[in-house]
Amino acid sequence: MWKNINGSAVFAGGKEAFEDAAQTALRCPLFRPDSEEEWTAEEARSCYNCRYRRWTKESFQCVKGGCP
Ligand code: SF4
Repeated sequence: MWKNINGSAVFAGGKEAFEDAAQTALRCPLFRPDSEEEWTAEEARSCYNCRYRRWTKESFQCVKGGCP
């Protein structure tokens, strides 16, 4: 699910793993929704819509270190 790249937790699924991103956010107690105009997933609760994700070229980094 997460790759450690230079000490950062990077989502292994890339930018279109909508099911995985939603399931991960459902399990994550740290999820906080970003402002709605920043959402990229239809499911409200998704790592793709979380204020703690930072987009990278191929995926995103979780600044909270990934779902605990
Ligand atoms: S804090 Fe990280 S793992 Fe948790 S929902 Fe947000 S982006 Fe996903």
